[in-house]
Amino acid sequence: MNVPAAATFSLDADHVGWVTFDDPAARANVLNTVMLDALNAALDAATNARPSALIIVSGKATTFLAGADLKQVDALPDAAGARAFSRAGQKSFARLENFPAPVVCAIHGACAGGGFELALACHWRIASDTAVTRIGLPETGLGTIPGWGGGVRLSRLVGAPVALAHILHAQLLPVRAALHDGLIDAVVAEPELRETAQVAAMRFARAGLPARVNPPPPPPDFFTHLRAQTLSKSRGQQPALLAAIAVVEQATALEVAPAQEAEARAFGDVTAGPVCKNLLHVFFLREAARKQTLAGWFAVAASRPLAPIARVGVVGAGVMGSGIAHWLAVHGCEVVLRDVQPDFVARGLGVIRGLFDDAVKRGKLLPHDADTAFAHITSTTDWDGFEACDLVIEAIVENAAAKQSLFSELARIVRPDTLLASNTSALPIDEIAGHVPHPERTLGMHFFNPVSRMPLVELVLSRQTSAATAERALALVKSLGNAPIICRSSPGFLVTRVLFFYLNEAVRLWETGVATDELDTALRDFGWPMGPLRLIDEVGIDVTDFIFGEMAHYFPERFAPATACRQLLAAGLKGRKNGASAGFYRYEGRVESTNDAATRALVAAPALRHRAPTEIASHLMHVMIDEARRCLAEGVVRSPDDVDFALLSGTGFPAFRGGLLRFAATQPPSIFPCPPSPPISPPN
Ligand code: NAD
Repeated sequence: MNVPAAATFSLDADHVGWVTFDDPAARANVLNTVMLDALNAALDAATNARPSALIIVSGKATTFLAGADLKQVDALPDAAGARAFSRAGQKSFARLENFPAPVVCAIHGACAGGGFELALACHWRIASDTAVTRIGLPETGLGTIPGWGGGVRLSRLVGAPVALAHILHAQLLPVRAALHDGLIDAVVAEPELRETAQVAAMRFARAGLPARVNPPPPPPDFFTHLRAQTLSKSRGQQPALLAAIAVVEQATALEVAPAQEAEARAFGDVTAGPVCKNLLHVFFLREAARKQTLAGWFAVAASRPLAPIARVGVVGAGVMGSGIAHWLAVHGCEVVLRDVQPDFVARGLGVIRGLFDDAVKRGKLLPHDADTAFAHITSTTDWDGFEACDLVIEAIVENAAAKQSLFSELARIVRPDTLLASNTSALPIDEIAGHVPHPERTLGMHFFNPVSRMPLVELVLSRQTSAATAERALALVKSLGNAPIICRSSPGFLVTRVLFFYLNEAVRLWETGVATDELDTALRDFGWPMGPLRLIDEVGIDVTDFIFGEMAHYFPERFAPATACRQLLAAGLKGRKNGASAGFYRYEGRVESTNDAATRALVAAPALRHRAPTEIASHLMHVMIDEARRCLAEGVVRSPDDVDFALLSGTGFPAFRGGLLRFAATQPPSIFPCPPSPPISPPN
């Protein structure tokens, strides 16, 4: 059988050539060796055909080119191999730049990394005005740099400051923002993309390409300042950021060929380094989580077909209920939101409207789509509309008795086959849902805050959760674009348990006299985005103290709760949540400083006691590693990758270290010795 090539060339009636990316073997186009070979073959055909102009398009519905094939990048054996990979791509893309006729890139769908580097090698770029079209260079987020001429070309196009702002930020932009910053030349409604590209290409063939104005040179000391700022922000842990700055700096001083050679060398060095390997590993963990299955969790698989979940009841219109209702509606579910008072419902709906407006402002949703999705949400202070729900997610106060009574009430209202889920952060599902009729339909669905930005969901299976229930919930979570991990019902599941053992130990250390600043700085030096005490302020000292209590209740032999949080609360220090402005730190506008009143709030304030930063970080990481290993050994989760992924995305564990257990495995065994292993529990 003749399989169509991943990139093909054709000539239209106006003698305009078209190169179309459409890999028949994949849902999205990625730049692997097959695609690069196909591109070179298509360019050979184009060269022979001598078209008046050339247009580059994609045949896929949502991707133009998603970037380099990261499996191939990960498999590059060493710096020399990575340099060769960079040079090969540079050579292919140079063919576009040097093509003897105008080359127009017509972008619809994700145009990321190597995909955008290819677009930059074209002479003119036009994109469809849709939310699926997103453009940028995310390489530094993966520990590498644009290696196919992207940094060099972008800095020549828009100037070093704008180019580096994009490269260091590593985000994909909506089309309007990309147009504003000069990354593309024009935007057009999606149905008109090809025709407009063709008209422009023919015009350029006749009249020549529009002249480009050279961007002004960067201000003096620009690179020195940016380097210093980047070094201090990344604490020297992200070599790709500094490499990207160096490449762009050289691009402003050198001719194209030596600038690209400098790019290839820098690409080789960072791509072969441990940080890039770790960040690629994290990327693959996330991909694997999105494809999560229930393998190993049930002795007998669910019989098919399974009814999809279309209508969801959400109980509790607070922080989590509103976030969950919004997220479900964005993804096409009918939602009915309940709270106990009309003003609570109204407050929740106001929050949801704000989330939609924000998504529109950030180019993630079109205004019409936001309005349609918002209209999917109805609300009640009673139970109207719950009788028709396929699933109800409870997000009321964290109290076992309240949740138990709610589940009993729900069971009287909904259908016997309606799934009943709790968003509890820590309570074992067995305890709160074990007594309803048909307990096989109960489970935990632990979303994280803020729901629209946190992809992780812990799907928590009780002893009674059936395979069909788990499958249906898993299918829903995947359809929301979230990345689930599966947990066995047990206190705190994985993330809350490991995180709060760590936070508790941090407070206990603070109680012994380690200064707030010293303690948090040690963990930030390790790579955490914020130190544990600062994080407690963010979570709320009240919530933290409550969860310490829960952990102490469930793990009395091992969890000795710190008492400081309660003493801070008694002194009116609540952290930073809900407008509070003091906890371990004081918050005055944008200024924050350590709060001496926190130490004074202690009944017996300790004398200051200095400990080396590495000792502090190592001590607290040991607590985390120990608890994570216990979770794994108890069968709370089934694989070290699940542990690593969940803690990376649920707690902010530094991604450049590749994951908690992966990090532990790189250390000598004497540093983080293993706890004794209890037996793993059998499948449901
Ligand atoms: P919240 O206090 O913001 O909201 C709870 C809402 O539930 C309130 O509006 C309350 O009026 C309502 N409520 C109480 N009883 C009700 C009932 N019987 N029927 C309808 N509504 C009722 O709480 P939250 O922060 O959204 O937390 C909700 C749940 O999610 C808790 O179990 C919490 O542990 C969990 N959780 C919270 C977070 C977080 O960061 N806030 C993260 C993950 C999970």
